[in-house]
Amino acid sequence: MIRSTVTTLFISDLHLDEKNPEIGEQFLRFLEGEAADADALYILGDLFESWVGDDDPNPHYAIMKSALRALVDSGVPVFFMHGNRDFMISDQFAEETGVTLLSDPTPIELHGEKVLLSHGDALCIDDKQYQQVRLMTRNPDWQAMMRAKPLQERIAFAESARQQSKEYSDSVGEDIMDVNQDAVVGTFRTRGVDILLHGHTHRPAIHDVQLEDRVARRIVLGDWYEQGSVVRWDEKGPRLEALPR
Ligand code: MN
Repeated sequence: MIRSTVTTLFISDLHLDEKNPEIGEQFLRFLEGEAADADALYILGDLFESWVGDDDPNPHYAIMKSALRALVDSGVPVFFMHGNRDFMISDQFAEETGVTLLSDPTPIELHGEKVLLSHGDALCIDDKQYQQVRLMTRNPDWQAMMRAKPLQERIAFAESARQQSKEYSDSVGEDIMDVNQDAVVGTFRTRGVDILLHGHTHRPAIHDVQLEDRVARRIVLGDWYEQGSVVRWDEKGPRLEALPR
């Protein structure tokens, strides 16, 4: 079959969880459907609601891993960047699924445009308490200490961390949980990219960003709680679209 156009797909913030099976079902349909015809699939973090280690035998996650493996084996490259929920994903996951792990941020070039991919949480610098947690949990020593704990202990820790995070989110203002505009402008300046593509904030939109010499664009993917969200990028450029359930 000859494809008329080559499309690269971007998704993030699915928060896959056996407690919300409809998200997983939509993700499986997405992988077997349009992702199978794509040029590549980029997952920009928070694919999973939580990840306590690649040794977790969680059956819901096992189904998702198999589906990713099938997509990679069919010839579609899949790239994954850590979010603030699944930052413990590591080499064993990459081996099992065939997915390529990306560091945050990662620059790519697409149809002649320079694009910087990120999960997005590093841009939310107004939330100082969150940034401290981020610094701690991304430290390799902290991660090694966590991995050395028994699985049940890690699962209990993740559960309490999620609860605390939810209480914290409910207690702070909406604005401090969004990206900081100076951080965005600074990123465009230092990276010299045309487009910044990220998730995390669950505020899907395409923003023009005025720089001294040009207008850049910031594309924000949405979460998958009520419906899917995808950026489809072909020779006509990027389109941010909802995926109805
Ligand atoms: Mn996130």
